[in-house]
Amino acid sequence: MEVKTSLLDNMIGVGDMVLLEPLNEDSFIENLRKRFDHNEIYTYIGSVVISMNPYRSLSIFTPEKVEEYLPGLDEAYRSLRDQDKDQCILITGESGAGKTEASKLVMSYVAAVCGRGQEVNKVKEQLLQSNPVLEAFGNAKTVRNDNSSRFGKYMDIEFDFKGDPLGGVISNYLLEKSRVCKQPRGERNFHIFYQLLSGASGDTLTKLKLDRDFSKYNYLSLDSATVNGLDDAASFRTVRNAMQIVGFMEDEVQLVLELVAAVLKLGNIEFKPESRVNGFDESRVKDKNDLKEMCELLGIEQSVLERAFSYRTVEAKMEKVSTTLNVAQAYYARDALAKNLYSRLFSWLVTRINESIKAQAKTRHKVMGVLDIYGFEIFEDNSFEQFIINYCNEKLQQIFIELTLREEQEEYVREGIEWTNIEYFNNAIICDLIENNQNGILAMLDEECLRPGTVTDDTFLDKLNTICAEHQHFESRLSKNSKFLTDHSLPHSCFRIQHYAGKVLYRVEGFVDKNNDLLYRDLSQAMYKATHSLMRQLFPEGNPAKVNLKRPLTAGFQFKASVGGLMRNLQTKNPNYIRCIKPNDKKAAHIFTDSLVCHQVRYLGLMENVRVRRAGYAFRQPYEPCLERYKMLCKQTWPHWRGPARDGVEVLLTDCSVPAEEFAYGRSKIFIRNPRTLFTLEERRRAC
Ligand code: ADP
Ligand code: MG
Repeated sequence: MEVKTSLLDNMIGVGDMVLLEPLNEDSFIENLRKRFDHNEIYTYIGSVVISMNPYRSLSIFTPEKVEEYLPGLDEAYRSLRDQDKDQCILITGESGAGKTEASKLVMSYVAAVCGRGQEVNKVKEQLLQSNPVLEAFGNAKTVRNDNSSRFGKYMDIEFDFKGDPLGGVISNYLLEKSRVCKQPRGERNFHIFYQLLSGASGDTLTKLKLDRDFSKYNYLSLDSATVNGLDDAASFRTVRNAMQIVGFMEDEVQLVLELVAAVLKLGNIEFKPESRVNGFDESRVKDKNDLKEMCELLGIEQSVLERAFSYRTVEAKMEKVSTTLNVAQAYYARDALAKNLYSRLFSWLVTRINESIKAQAKTRHKVMGVLDIYGFEIFEDNSFEQFIINYCNEKLQQIFIELTLREEQEEYVREGIEWTNIEYFNNAIICDLIENNQNGILAMLDEECLRPGTVTDDTFLDKLNTICAEHQHFESRLSKNSKFLTDHSLPHSCFRIQHYAGKVLYRVEGFVDKNNDLLYRDLSQAMYKATHSLMRQLFPEGNPAKVNLKRPLTAGFQFKASVGGLMRNLQTKNPNYIRCIKPNDKKAAHIFTDSLVCHQVRYLGLMENVRVRRAGYAFRQPYEPCLERYKMLCKQTWPHWRGPARDGVEVLLTDCSVPAEEFAYGRSKIFIRNPRTLFTLEERRRAC
C-alpha cells in the first residue's frame, strides 16, 4: 500500500489505523470520530475499508472522486483488469450502516471508470437501473433504516479483457416475506405497495381495482404509512422508468402490478366460522367482494379459490382425503399464499432482470462480485428470520477470518518472508452449532419438522435443550455447546446464542412453521389454474400432472445450501472489504455515539484486524515506488539510481540507519515492520 502524506495528517486523524500510535480501543474510536467530524468517512486497516455512515450527502460522492477516497476500490478494479484476478467486494455492517449505499457507489464507480460506446453504456445503465427495481420490491422502512434491504443481494459484474462491463448476474437471498402480511410497529410493508397506490394514475388503479387510500388494506400498517423524506409517488415513476431501461415490456410491467394488487386484495379476504353438525367450525369467506376482484384480476374461477379457503386435500399414495379448514387455518392459508406469491414474484423479477443484464458475448470474462447482505440483527424479539440472517453473518465473519489471514499469510510465503501465526477468535464453532449436519440447530429443526406426531415450537426447543445443553457442563469451554447459553434468566420458550457479535435471545414461536413454509396444495393448484400467465408460472407445483408427494425442502435447508454456494463462490475470488459502521441510531448527521461505535468495532474484530497487520509487517510496498518516494533522503540514490530498485532501497534504508530487524526484503516488495519507521522517513522527507 502506498503511503500518502494525507494519511499522516494529525488534524483529521490517521487514514490508516495501522499508523495509529498508541493503538488501543480508545485511540481507535477517537480516530474514527476525528475523521468523521472532518467528513472523512473512510479509514483503512491495510486494505480493509472502514466506512462511517455520514447520514447526509457529501460532495465526495462523485465517481471521479471515489478513486481518491476509496483507493482500495480502485486497486481492486485495476488488479481485475490488469492482473486478471477475479475480485469480490464484501460489504458488511448492521442495518443502516450504509452497505447498500456503498454497493451503489461501487457500481457507479465501475460505470465511471470503464469504457464508453453505445453498447457498453447500455450495459452500465441496465446494471445501475436494476437497483431501483429491486429496492422497490425488496426494501422497506424499518425502525433502523427508512430504506432497509429485506433481502440479501450478490451481484457478479462481468468484464471483458479490456475491463469494460459485459453484463451481470444477480443472486438474491431469502426475502423477509413475513413482512408482506405483518409489519412490526413503526415499520412498513415493502415500498412498492405504497408507491403503486400513491404514484399510479387513476386509470391504472381502476384497472387494478385498487383504491388510493392505504387504510383500505389490511396488509398495510398505518402507523407509519408515510415516511419523511420518502416521496412514494415520485419513486413509482423512477421504478417504472427503471423497469423500462432494464428491458421489461409494458405488458410484463402490467402483469407484475396485477400481482402486487392481488396481494393487497388477498389480505382483505376475511373469514367467518360456519358451525357444522359434527361440531367443528368450518371456515367461509366473509365478504366475497375482494375474493371476486382478486379472481377477476388473475383469471381464477371464484369457486375454486373459495373452496381452497374451506378445505384442504391431503394426498397420500393414490388416496385423496379432504379435510375442512377452520377460520384460523384459513387465515394461515391466506397469509401463506400471500407470502409465497410475493416472494416468488420477487425471485421472478431477479430472474427477469438477469435475462436482460446477462453478458451477451460468451467470451472468457473476469468478474467483480459485490455482496450487500442484511447485517447482524439483534432485536428484543428475535425470530426465525433473525436466526437465519445472523447465521449468514457468522458465515461471512468466518470467511473474513479465513481470507484476511489466508491472504496475509500467502503474501508472506509468496514473498519469501518468515511468518508466525496470529491467533484470532475463530467463530467456526458457532457456525458448527447452527449448521452441523447431525446435531446442528438447523438439522434438529428439520428433523422436528419431518417427525410424525405432534410437532410444536416447544417440542423443538426441548430437543435443542436436551442436545445442545446437556453436555455443556462436561465439555470444555471451547466446545460449540458453550455458545448455546442456558441460564436461569432465560424467558419461557426461548434459547440464546453467543454470536460473534453478541448474545441473541431467540423466541422459538413460529420456527417450525416458518421452516416448513407450508402452502396447501389446493391453493397452489388454484393459482396454477389462473389464466394470468405470470401467476401460473410462479406456481408450477400446482400443475396436477406434476404432483410431487415429496415434501418440499425446508426454508432453513434451502438457505443453508444457498449460503454454502455463496461462500464457495467468494472463496475463489480476491476479497476486498468494506466494513460499514453506523455512527448513531437516530438516522442523524453529525452525531457520533461512542458506545455504539465501540460495540461495532469490537464485534467486527477491527482491533484484531489492526493487530494482525501490525504484528507482521505493517507496510509493504513494491520497490520502485518506495525508492521513488524516499530517494531524496540519500546521496547515492538521488536523483537517479542506476540498478535494480531492490538494491536501491537497501542502500537507502542502510544510509538512513533503519535497524535491520525493522524490515525484510520480499521478492517484489519491501516489508516494513513498524509504522514508526515510516513516520521517520516521512518526517525527514518533509524536512528536505
Ligand atoms: P444498510 O444497507 O447498511 O442497511 P443503507 O445503505 O440503506 O444501510 O443506508 C441507510 C441510510 O443512510 C441511507 O438511506 C442514507 O440516507 C444514509 N447513508 C448511508 N450511506 C451513506 C453515504 N455514503 N452518504 C450519505 N448517506 C448515506
Ligand atoms: Mg441495505
